[in-house]
Amino acid sequence: MDELALHVKRTAKSVALQSARMSASIGAGFVSRRLLLPIKVAYDPPSPGTLYPGKKKAAACISIDFDVTAEDRFEANREGTRALLDLSEKYGVPMTWAICGMTADADRESYERILKSPVKQEIGIHTYSHIDAQRSAAEEFEKDVRRCVDALGLDAMPLTFVFPWNRVNHLPVLRRMGFKAFRGKERAIGAPALNEGLYDIRPVYYVDQKSQGAHSLIKRYVDLCASASSVFHLWTHPWSVVRGEGGGPMVETLDPVFRHLRGLADKGTLSLSTMGGLAEHFGSAREQPSGIRD
Ligand SMILES: [Zn+2]
Repeated sequence: MDELALHVKRTAKSVALQSARMSASIGAGFVSRRLLLPIKVAYDPPSPGTLYPGKKKAAACISIDFDVTAEDRFEANREGTRALLDLSEKYGVPMTWAICGMTADADRESYERILKSPVKQEIGIHTYSHIDAQRSAAEEFEKDVRRCVDALGLDAMPLTFVFPWNRVNHLPVLRRMGFKAFRGKERAIGAPALNEGLYDIRPVYYVDQKSQGAHSLIKRYVDLCASASSVFHLWTHPWSVVRGEGGGPMVETLDPVFRHLRGLADKGTLSLSTMGGLAEHFGSAREQPSGIRD
């Protein structure tokens, strides 16, 4: 068994254990750090009374890194983009797209498909040429980000930025350019965390081909985040939800997860948000001395 599969197995076990313990302690809004440690997800308890958009007690967001950094991923990126949009539209679940400018230029059809979706698809920036922010000077970085914004032909400046390889750097540059949200590298269950003026919408679960069949596990993470008044943030790449050798996208794994998110939203448990939507919500709450508002 490879390391990732082993990790998923262990995670399943620990989440199951955690669920049992949590059912006894949810009332106190308590999640044991000791239990989260083995699954490499930090727990940063939101302050009491934290509310998400729509006055909900928890939130979910999905971010998709739309990038083709290897030539043989072009078709998989297109196929995965279509499959993810189909799921988003089937269940009315909004998504945030971190668009790499050169990929949008190379595959205008897929990019346009995202823009034309009847469901909210937030357009975020993933640099133009997929550059490493930790290996580029501020000026070079800003130029590449600006090139991406221009290439995407958007009416307004995007709110969300996702770093290639999640290598975080140059936050003051992004802040000055008007960004409000980014996705940090460290996984955490909690509320959006302010870092140099931007909200880190911290990831909880990464989906790739090894997640195939892991829908029960992913749903448990959703429930865990919901009961901890936190954000369940799932992220992936279109090409990583497409199995090789003509296997198609792993819809059978993701469909139950999207259905679960829709179900919890309909029950009023979860706010289905975008990264930018969460940052705007918390940003405006900060400006209101009366505390967190809808
Ligand atoms: Zn990327």
